[in-house]
Amino acid sequence: MPQAYKNFINGEWVASQRGETFEDRNPANTDEVVGVFQKSDQRDVNAAIEAAKEAYKKWRLVPAPRRAELIYYAGQLLVKRKEDYATAMTREMGKVLKESRGDVEEAIDISYFTAGEGRRMYGQTTPSGLPNKFQMSIRQPLGVCAMITPWNFPMAIPSWKVIPALVCGNTVVLKPATETPMSSVNFIQTLADAGIPKGVINLVTSTGSQVGTPLMNHPDVKIVSFTGSSEVGSIVSKACAPDFKHCSLEMGGKNCMVVMPSAKLDLAVDGALWGAFGTTGQRCTATSRIVVHKDVYKQFVEKLTECTKKLKVGHGLDPTVDMGPAINQSQLDNDLRYIGIGKKDGGRLVTGGERLTGGIYDKGYFLQPTIFADITQQMTIWKEEIFGPVLSIAMCESLEQGIEMANDSAYGLSASIYTQDINEAFSAMRDVYTGIFYVNSPTIGAEVHLPFGGTKATGNGHREAGIQALDVFSEWKSCYIDFSGTLQKAQIDE
Ligand code: NAD
Repeated sequence: MPQAYKNFINGEWVASQRGETFEDRNPANTDEVVGVFQKSDQRDVNAAIEAAKEAYKKWRLVPAPRRAELIYYAGQLLVKRKEDYATAMTREMGKVLKESRGDVEEAIDISYFTAGEGRRMYGQTTPSGLPNKFQMSIRQPLGVCAMITPWNFPMAIPSWKVIPALVCGNTVVLKPATETPMSSVNFIQTLADAGIPKGVINLVTSTGSQVGTPLMNHPDVKIVSFTGSSEVGSIVSKACAPDFKHCSLEMGGKNCMVVMPSAKLDLAVDGALWGAFGTTGQRCTATSRIVVHKDVYKQFVEKLTECTKKLKVGHGLDPTVDMGPAINQSQLDNDLRYIGIGKKDGGRLVTGGERLTGGIYDKGYFLQPTIFADITQQMTIWKEEIFGPVLSIAMCESLEQGIEMANDSAYGLSASIYTQDINEAFSAMRDVYTGIFYVNSPTIGAEVHLPFGGTKATGNGHREAGIQALDVFSEWKSCYIDFSGTLQKAQIDE
């Protein structure tokens, strides 16, 4: 019998009101049920928000350094539990074990980094224009924060939201993706074990319509922090608008690597393999487009194709495997649909393109790593996010054209350039309009102490991680203290 997991509301693991559950299955072996989780609805959401609202009254008054100490301790517990949680993550999400370890590591890193902010959260003190007057700005929490997260980074993304929210003094209701609730259960359990008081963190599982919708529409929620597709992000944004709820959105990407003639070609090939096929291409920052200068185009495509053919696809717990399965049938169907469109539009399929079958492959959602060359800017697979191991390669004639092509996207999350020419590197860094940029690395590999997020359809101007996450989960209050004993009027000539 697979283990049954519950919602976490007001410090207790509780069954959903309707008493129904859903299964979380391993995408590499759909015979394996990883766990059984609560099918919740509005009633569970209401209970979680009520608990978070009540807990906020005390939690906001706990000194920030004390709140942060609990977060630091949670980070230490995650270190001890890393291997178990990474193994559970690979079983529910499919990515290879070393990447799941990296996902847990991000939760550890953000815990340690943001715990330090508990003793900083710097505001400003400024001189006043008037005598005997003091002024400063301070951060204040917002209240109950709703968090809606995707399946591809099942512990890292919840942690990027929950940890800074808690250090700032907010309380939280988290709704994880239905494909990966286990990693959120593990994360929330760790926070509870670290001593976060009851009601401060709450977890409610189920679908977007059953839990996400009532959560974002609830009047007691002060901010919705969402990571997922741009389609759903747009729905969240509209739901928040009528009562001016804060809304922080991290959405899709169509990230581009530019390869120039001076680049170390083997390094660029290694980067392309990791950027395009790491996490089965299911990263918001995945390298899904590569623009190669005409002088090295043929050579690059040949080398990359040769290396891609050697990648081993399989179960993420097998240490010899390079790439795991797609998350589910619908993602696999989506990948195959785009491969069909790529062929129809005239892309040159240089490797992959087929679902893998036979043996262990029949039990999961396995796809060959796929490369299309000779892609043009008019083609659908150049433009649309696929979120699978399907890479599009196009040719450019110059750096300027490469930059123009990198910018030719509705999204603006991440980009990179491979070059040994410092002038090219700095020009591209300045002119490519994305939230993240790499030189001589693929488009993936962000670290938690710099802001994470994107421009255009990727986001709405907020950033996760770094100290910038504090701006999402706190509001500024400017305070003026007049100790002159007289009525002083700012800006008024007397
Ligand atoms: P998704 O938009 O389908 O789902 C994200 C979350 O929203 C899930 O928890 C889902 O249950 C919930 N949801 C779905 N419909 C909803 C609705 N109508 N109302 C409220 N909640 C709803 O995305 P996904 O398939 O889980 O993840 C893949 C997408 O996430 C990709 O587009 C990827 O680029 C993006 N992503 C972005 C980042 C980033 O930081 N920019 C990071 C990871 C993933």
